[in-house]
Amino acid sequence: MTSMLSDTTRRRSIPVQVGHVTVGGEAPIAVQSMTNTDTADIAATVAQIRALAEAGSELVRITVDRPEAARAVPHIRDRLRAAGCTVPLIGDFHYVGDRLLADHPAAAEALDKYRINPGNVGFGAKRDVRFAKIIEIALAHDKPVRIGVNWGSLDQALLTRLMDENAKSPSPRDARHVMHEAIVRSALDSAEEARRLGMGADRIVLSAKVSAVPDLLRVYRLLAERCDHALHLGLTEAGMGVKGTVASTAGLAILLAEGIGDTIRVSLTPEPGADRAQEVRVAQEVLQALGLRAFAPQVAACPGCGRTTSTLFQELARDIEAHIRDRMPEWRRLYPGVETLSLAVMGCIVNGPGESKHADIGISLPGTGESPAAPVFIEGRKVATLRGPDIAAAFTALIEDYVADRFGQGESRAASDTG
Ligand code: SF4
Repeated sequence: MTSMLSDTTRRRSIPVQVGHVTVGGEAPIAVQSMTNTDTADIAATVAQIRALAEAGSELVRITVDRPEAARAVPHIRDRLRAAGCTVPLIGDFHYVGDRLLADHPAAAEALDKYRINPGNVGFGAKRDVRFAKIIEIALAHDKPVRIGVNWGSLDQALLTRLMDENAKSPSPRDARHVMHEAIVRSALDSAEEARRLGMGADRIVLSAKVSAVPDLLRVYRLLAERCDHALHLGLTEAGMGVKGTVASTAGLAILLAEGIGDTIRVSLTPEPGADRAQEVRVAQEVLQALGLRAFAPQVAACPGCGRTTSTLFQELARDIEAHIRDRMPEWRRLYPGVETLSLAVMGCIVNGPGESKHADIGISLPGTGESPAAPVFIEGRKVATLRGPDIAAAFTALIEDYVADRFGQGESRAASDTG
């Protein structure tokens, strides 16, 4: 599949090693997520981290907010590794991070990265001391950090200073501009301070999260202009459901299309009891829709219209999506590269054959008034015409054969040939 962004130059950032995952440089843009369990509840946190990692999260962040949580961290890491889950763990620290890391060296060692919010480290001279303490511990344990500014907890002293300076300026900017500047300066000044304390640029990731897309664009464009640190992208407090998904996608996609961003998180507010891994799937879909990464075969399906009066086509599109989801764990193992597969399930002759020919494998179902036959195309050539009540089963079998034939290697291909 040709990348839609093949002509976009990705901003060149300094790569940062987080456990076995590289963030930035030429590494693929990494998907990350965050748990919402109480970290002190080891079993629940391990289960959620495993679910997030299985869904494709390449880094997982956990809250470390009190001694019980810090004490749980090494046990969480050990249980994950015993279960074969190698996903790097990031500790999210606010207010008392310096104390927790100092008092719990096993947690400091077990984590692969520390997230520091410079607006929440402390105030005045205390802030500098606490910030320095965290950097010192990170250096001692050879861990990278993310300096993660959030406008909900922006350094108020810095904001007030910039507001005052702006008010005295002969050509004052509007308050929003000053706030953007304060967010960016908080991230850059903190990174500079970490550098002065001895931390290499290859150990620092930056983020500056806001909750409105126009602000996100402005802030990240400024950051991208002014530094070459790896950038973690995300809209904070994106919200629930469709609203959260669309807002996150709108913000992330524009920046990614400009070549900005080395790792992303989609911060969705889950419905009560809903699957936390949804944020991972949305992040993957954003990257795949932009042609930046491939995680799973893509099914192009038309929306249907007055030419599709039966539900056959909707059911087939749904069943094919479900089949791919169910088969992916095994396909991934047996058929390297299968995630680049493209499929089409179309509703009638208007766009059906054309779209199906553009996919690796596609089917064009008969619309109202058409003869009850469904041509199947593989790599642009018509290979079969399906009829009758078993169209779904027959098309699924053709997909399985095509996947084995194209992506199978050695034994699996031989097995499929003889089977
Ligand atoms: S392909 Fe046919 S059924 Fe699907 S949206 Fe277009 S006209 Fe309607």
